[in-house]
Amino acid sequence: MAIHDCDSQPGLRPYLDAKHDMLTRLDAITDNEPVSLDQSLNRILADDIYSPIDVPSFANSAMDGYALRATDAVTDAALTLIGTSLAGHPFNGRVGPGECVRIMTGAALPLGADAVVMQENCRSEHNIIYPRGAVTEGQNIRQPAEDLAQGERVFAAGTRINARVLSVLSSLGLEQLYVRRPLKVALLSTGDELKSPGELLAPGDIYDSNRIGIGAMLERLGIRVIDYGIIKDDPALIRQAFLKAASEADALITSGGVSVGDADYTKQVLEDVGRIGFWKLAVKPGKPFAFGHISDSPFFGLPGNPVSAAVTFHLLVRPALAKLAGETLKPTPLLQAKALMPLRKSPGRMDFQRGMVSTQADGSLGVVAAGSQSSAVYSAMAEANCLLHLEQDRGNVAEGEMVTLELIDGLYW
Ligand code: AMP
Ligand code: MG
Repeated sequence: MAIHDCDSQPGLRPYLDAKHDMLTRLDAITDNEPVSLDQSLNRILADDIYSPIDVPSFANSAMDGYALRATDAVTDAALTLIGTSLAGHPFNGRVGPGECVRIMTGAALPLGADAVVMQENCRSEHNIIYPRGAVTEGQNIRQPAEDLAQGERVFAAGTRINARVLSVLSSLGLEQLYVRRPLKVALLSTGDELKSPGELLAPGDIYDSNRIGIGAMLERLGIRVIDYGIIKDDPALIRQAFLKAASEADALITSGGVSVGDADYTKQVLEDVGRIGFWKLAVKPGKPFAFGHISDSPFFGLPGNPVSAAVTFHLLVRPALAKLAGETLKPTPLLQAKALMPLRKSPGRMDFQRGMVSTQADGSLGVVAAGSQSSAVYSAMAEANCLLHLEQDRGNVAEGEMVTLELIDGLYW
């Protein structure tokens, strides 16, 4: 009961409420820039994209076989082969009654023909082709505009250009696109104990992992990172860094110092030089997450514990950066899986435990906790492939109960 009471602290903002509130206080950048198609991967479309052409622009064959007139393919039909249509080398004549043309996948359908019979269904002897079985008009033909019609809206502004989107944009023949300019985000860690990779650890020191890990996530999101390094737990230095960062960047991300310890100055300085939107959230890990503004720049104060920093980045900063960058995020698919082991959970905060989900022998999903759920144990996080969404009011999860989760592998972290 004591643990429960401790977690049910009044004044903690529920996750979805805080997220909604935060998003309403953010405005997207409006600056656009042209990029060539081959430089557009991972950028955000500034405009809706309409197809300038029909795709495909001509009727073509979906098979290797013979182009003919469907009405000619009667029982015992014998068709005269009059030519060949290869991809990129159309047949220039016309297919008349009793005739056919050898045709390869992607090759233009010759005039006069209205069907393609796959070669496995034909017998060929001395330039005479004997099709087998019934042939219907349009069979094995890809019609013009079957994929996309000229003038059709293909992508909406706000779409992130991934490899699949890029492939479709390429099929339209576009050479240049307008995209949002990349966001510039200032990133810094606070803590007297933090050392950079390569430095020697003095007693009590640890290596800074948040700046590296969060920086990597930002880079994968196509964001320009301005690295402010490690700032000591000194309000004057923190203040100086915050003001400089706010003047240089579209947003500021810090880690550490947002709790209530003696050397936790982040929130205090934020209140001093800017405005705090909210602080304490009813989430685990990541209760002390600070959101606010310094002049016009949004401020995201991540907790110091690396797991809390990464999880709150995903839960709150990722959607915030999408809004700032003008990116439309698709809703995250949530899956149901059976807990294959008991999970400890106290009511009061939504708990985003790190898990490993896998497909069971019967095809259903099963999930186990990925190692320690302590927010200070980052190694378990790297092993995880999913984030459990354990509801705020839920208590312990017994083995066999269903839980909600989202997949995190293959995203940006
Ligand atoms: P704080 O939020 O500053 O109280 O830090 C909470 C815990 O996270 C402490 O154990 C810190 O040493 C640790 N921590 C803070 N910043 C980092 C960082 N950048 N990398 C790794 N651990 C950190
Ligand atoms: Mg600290």
